[in-house]
Amino acid sequence: MIISIASGKGGTGKTTVATNLAVSLESTVQVLDCDVEEPNSHLFIRPTIEEVKTITTPVPEVSMDRCTLCGKCAEICQFNAIIVLGETVLPFHEMCHSCGGCIEVCPEKAITEAERELGIIEKGHRNGLEFVHGKLRVGEAMSPPLIKKVREYTRPGILTIIDAPPGTSCPVIASMKGADFVLLVTEPTPFGLHDLKLAVGAVKILGIPCGVVINRSDIGDDKVKKYAEEENVPVLMEIPFDRRIAEVYSRGDMVVEVMPEWKEKFRALYHKIKGVVSTNNSGRI
Ligand code: SF4
Ligand code: SF4
Repeated sequence: MIISIASGKGGTGKTTVATNLAVSLESTVQVLDCDVEEPNSHLFIRPTIEEVKTITTPVPEVSMDRCTLCGKCAEICQFNAIIVLGETVLPFHEMCHSCGGCIEVCPEKAITEAERELGIIEKGHRNGLEFVHGKLRVGEAMSPPLIKKVREYTRPGILTIIDAPPGTSCPVIASMKGADFVLLVTEPTPFGLHDLKLAVGAVKILGIPCGVVINRSDIGDDKVKKYAEEENVPVLMEIPFDRRIAEVYSRGDMVVEVMPEWKEKFRALYHKIKGVVSTNNSGRI
């Protein structure tokens, strides 16, 4: 089963839920931190890293001695990532989506593949927990290709927990697509509600069952709960505001280890998710 943990808004406690859920379970679990622009699951899981891999993507390189300036490469590129300018052809690697179209259409075979570095992937473990995260290269604009590479580490047959980036744009979709369940972490504030609506909208388009965790549930109002009820999205867990949890988090410790009473609550959350996924479509919206 693949559970993607997302939130429309940053700072809602998504990583706290993802890491504590993973550590609470006794079965073999893997955590894939797909928040590649700012991965932070490792700060809590503290895995031993065994493998570091540089990830690249192919981009075009033009040999001007073969090029006849026909313009076919620029014509096919939907991203304006290659243009003919006067007597030269200019590829813009940062805008290239590596579709290979320009290489295919060049009649002179003047375009070859070069590599652009996207970032790195680190793989490790903590006891029985497998851990993988991506770190986007500073200055790299496109994170979905690196997220896809992190997701290639999904091991069938075990539980995979994905820590998705915040928001509802392409990187989030790349982190949710193909998941069996999306757990949306939110807070009961107007900002939380606004961003939850956007996130639920995105999950709806993907057709994945989902549920909500309300963090700091005793602050704010009950509009998130009302909205969830209206949308038939189950509220699977509520985490009240607790100064001790905030202190544990700020030290980079795991809540379930310092406050063991939470271990059972996270296990119960997992069983509720399993129930939604395996028995019916009650969470599907
Ligand atoms: S590989 Fe695709 S996206 Fe990149 S420059 Fe060529 S046509 Fe454009
Ligand atoms: S398609 Fe090939 S020959 Fe034509 S302009 Fe582009 S690089 Fe030059």
